[in-house]
Amino acid sequence: MAVDLLATSEQLQRIKFCFDILQQTSEGYPFVTDLTTGAVLLSARMVEEYNLPGTVLVDLDRYWVPLIYPEDLDAYEASFVHIFEAGNPGVHDIEYRVKNREGEYTWIHCHGMVGRDDSGNAVIFAGFITKMDRILHADPVTGLLNRFAFDQAVREGVTAALAKGEMGAVMIVGLDNFHLLNEAYETHFDDVALRQIGQSIRNVLPTHLNLYKLDGNEFGLIWPHTSQEEVEIIFSSIQLCLREAKESNYNVFFSASAGVVFYPDSGTDALALQKHAKAALEMAQQQGREQLLVFSQQEYKSWLRFINLQHAFEESIEKGCKGFRLFFQPQVDAMTKELIGAEALLRWQEEDGHVISPVVFIPILERTRLIIPVGRWIVEEAVKVCKKWQEFKTGFQMSVNVSLCQLETTDLKNYVKESLERHELSPECLTLELTESQEISNWQFVNEQFDFFRQMGIKVAMDDFGTGYSSLALLKYFNCDIVKIDKVFVDNILDSEFDRKLLKHAIKLCQSIGMAVYVEGVEEEPTYEYISRECGADVIQGFYFGRPEPEQIFRERFQK
Ligand code: C2E
Ligand code: CA
Ligand code: CA
Repeated sequence: MAVDLLATSEQLQRIKFCFDILQQTSEGYPFVTDLTTGAVLLSARMVEEYNLPGTVLVDLDRYWVPLIYPEDLDAYEASFVHIFEAGNPGVHDIEYRVKNREGEYTWIHCHGMVGRDDSGNAVIFAGFITKMDRILHADPVTGLLNRFAFDQAVREGVTAALAKGEMGAVMIVGLDNFHLLNEAYETHFDDVALRQIGQSIRNVLPTHLNLYKLDGNEFGLIWPHTSQEEVEIIFSSIQLCLREAKESNYNVFFSASAGVVFYPDSGTDALALQKHAKAALEMAQQQGREQLLVFSQQEYKSWLRFINLQHAFEESIEKGCKGFRLFFQPQVDAMTKELIGAEALLRWQEEDGHVISPVVFIPILERTRLIIPVGRWIVEEAVKVCKKWQEFKTGFQMSVNVSLCQLETTDLKNYVKESLERHELSPECLTLELTESQEISNWQFVNEQFDFFRQMGIKVAMDDFGTGYSSLALLKYFNCDIVKIDKVFVDNILDSEFDRKLLKHAIKLCQSIGMAVYVEGVEEEPTYEYISRECGADVIQGFYFGRPEPEQIFRERFQK
């Protein structure tokens, strides 16, 4: 409640007189409480900052306590109990968080003291409240302004840009390889290096721009009135200065990437701008080193999708790959139409039951290398199912897809072998299909890996023959047993004489060098007829004989 005590009390009038001088000569907010009446005199700036109802209040706590950060409340209350205890000098000296007019918690330092009369009764409590952001605005390691200062600068920058109708940029620079360097050297290397890097970047910036040190190895910049060209130029000079600032004692090079968001075009909320600049940085770092990426809502959406899926996959892996399923698509003998086996195809089912295509999520698993643990589960499941189906059909064949990065761990050899042993499945019944052969440059390594499996009796297939470039060259480099001809070779054969000839000769060529040919994507009877009768393919896999289906449905089909 705001009251007009001053009009009646001469003593308070005098206090107010002193008080006005104090509030004009100090950066803090003075306060005086008359403990006999409970009236508190507050500085006008404090009233403004925390949206209080007036400069003289008899019930300050009613407005003040709800503003205190809940976790700090106990310390606040304990201090007041303490200072009024008899014999206590009555010094209140505490830091806590209070919500300001904007609804943000900011740290304050409250330093006050109880005054007593001749009989020792507490009659007055007075002191200063200081906002701590000024003190807290320096980063202790680099001496640069810190993220609190950055946050404030972004806020002010946006307000100014809106008022002037200008465009500005928020940029977050992150060091690409910093964590690796940090692991390689002793502790405190990071502090020394960060200080030097901060200084180097600072030196290439125009003098009117501040550099801020954010969390980890990230630096922030806020740029009023700028353009994309200008941002690109500055980013190049940051790159250059990092290359030149080779850390003398450690003999290492640093490189940086950056995420940029332009305001007000891409938003006016300071927190969202910082979040988006950070997301753009992460996207940039995903793309490789030394990248600059400008935030766009569309890319951000797919990035969020990526992040969400990645988290879901990580969680799933911890729970034994819950949510992943294998579907099975029949493979039939091209001549007799007899079922000989199946390809195991991975599916991901979201919590709402929605199933997403492997075309979307396999690249995510590959990029995050989560395909390695998931791949282990796939092999185990596929081998288990294959063994079970041998009861219905002796020699049932199972094909499992393998991504390149799965070959890069020694793990694959072990668990394939272990799975076969555990389920007592003959290696001759398993085929491994290498899915991304177009991307491979080190064939010697790949062949070495696969030779291990081939020696065991496992068959190796080249997937997607005919997609990408130089498939023909792959036949020369890749020691495999089976070539799987992609659907693109098949799609037009009913309409195009050229495509018919191409497919036929491709099949003959592969067979002439000793490979079995599987043809994928066969959807209709006439296509099947041509490929089996005219081309003499070995095995057919396509919707004409069945789509990928869950285990139960697949089994019902071939038990008929
Ligand atoms: P892929 O290995 O070439 O698998 C064949 C894809 O073609 C499957 O798509 C299958 O459903 C589809 N297909 C088969 N016959 C026909 C047909 O007659 N018509 C049409 N339109 N499509 C047909 P799916 O299951 O969506 O898999 C897509 C790709 O995802 C696979 O291509 C493979 O590269 C990858 N993938 C799937 N499962 C795994 C896995 O367990 N591990 C790895 N590394 N990759 C996998
Ligand atoms: Ca495949
Ligand atoms: Ca394929």
